Amino acid sequence: MSNKSQNKFSQILSVCKARGFLFPSSEIYGGLNSCWDYGPLGVQLKNNLKKQWWENMTKRSDVTGLDASIFMHPKVWEASGHLDGFTDPLSDCRDCKHRFRLEEGMTTCPNCGSKNITESRDFNLMFKSFMGPLEAESSTVYLRPETAQGIYVNFLNVQQSMRLKIPFGMAQIGKAFRNEITPSHSIFRTREFEQMEMQFFTSKKESARWFDYWREERMQHLLSLGFKETELHFKVHEKEELAHYAQKAEDIEFDFPWGRRELEGLHNRGDFDLSQHQKFSGKKLQYFCPVENKSYLPYVIETSIGVDRLFLAILSSAYKEENVNNETRKLFKLSSHIAPVQIAVLPLSKKSALLEIAESLSSDLQKEWFVEYDSSGSIGKRYRRQDEIGTPFCATIDFESCEDNKLTIRYRDSMKQERISIESLNNFLKDNFK
Ligand code: ATP
Repeated sequence: MSNKSQNKFSQILSVCKARGFLFPSSEIYGGLNSCWDYGPLGVQLKNNLKKQWWENMTKRSDVTGLDASIFMHPKVWEASGHLDGFTDPLSDCRDCKHRFRLEEGMTTCPNCGSKNITESRDFNLMFKSFMGPLEAESSTVYLRPETAQGIYVNFLNVQQSMRLKIPFGMAQIGKAFRNEITPSHSIFRTREFEQMEMQFFTSKKESARWFDYWREERMQHLLSLGFKETELHFKVHEKEELAHYAQKAEDIEFDFPWGRRELEGLHNRGDFDLSQHQKFSGKKLQYFCPVENKSYLPYVIETSIGVDRLFLAILSSAYKEENVNNETRKLFKLSSHIAPVQIAVLPLSKKSALLEIAESLSSDLQKEWFVEYDSSGSIGKRYRRQDEIGTPFCATIDFESCEDNKLTIRYRDSMKQERISIESLNNFLKDNFK
């Protein structure tokens, strides 16, 4: 990573910590490697991102929701191929004892540079635990490494109970766990993370068309969150890079401060998963098509994105530093519909007449918006704080407000200020939200 990118990334993390977005897990005990806690603003931003995704996916007639359990029957992981094949190459440095994922072409230890490293061996990334009081093989369970399998095993439950016809999709948001050898870049690659996955069931014939449809749909959704077209890129997986289950795969990559990396994965998984579950469970999972009057195993188009990775990407995209009167102004240019605070109400002084107006305005606005009420400190410092947490608008109540029933709206991006009537603020927000 260049110094400039390193600097940008550490600035983002430091604002996240200082302003209540993200804290290291169990920090008072020294933290736990690769685990993070979302603070008050972090969880709000995360929930906003999940809400946008969920609504985009399920507010249509051909996609339903699901919330499957994290623990699943251990045979699920045999059928899916995870028990045998979900591994990364692990190597040890004989000199400094560092343990790392052996990337292609790597010949030296990434920690000390020694060439004295072991041959790689397969390391399974699934977390193992035991269900019930016996630590026997028969009670072994795994923390799911992806949410997708919960959807496949429920395919017929959902199709039949909801009387759905193919094509249709199932969307799910939930935690996934991978014992990554080398977690990196804070929440970019962690061992516990959240996924938003949608599996779309279609006939084989139509699968290529639906792949193209979802590819475009996903890109448009990411752009609607505020990403710029120039920082998102499609990357096609070549035949030899394809995962064992995939007929076709494409990633949407984002230009993170340290380089271009996968943000979302799109796969045509064929009928691999359903046919494996049919084989291992002994239960028929075929869909009966009333039009063609025949049964078949549908193909699956998958879209899969990590909430945490999206969170980091959106903050990286929105982070800006500007020079204002010889001081650095830091800000997150977040879109109004995902910003954790949408409007800040700031009384200019602690005079009771001003506080009264500001408090009543704030509680009115709370019915519809995420509001922060802040009455302490200089107005300049309060504006800076709002810039740093990405609040698109501040409403300042001053002495004149008591006379003319107007307030000052301050725009985050341009810092422009304008006076509008207090009663028109709600409509102003509606008109200016994007
Ligand atoms: P990578 O190559 O980055 O490890 P992957 O190809 O294994 O990712 P998928 O299995 O396709 O990832 O998972 C789908 C999405 O889930 C990824 O695009 C990413 O957004 C997210 N994701 C996967 N692994 C992690 C992780 N360890 N931490 C955070 N997010 C993750």
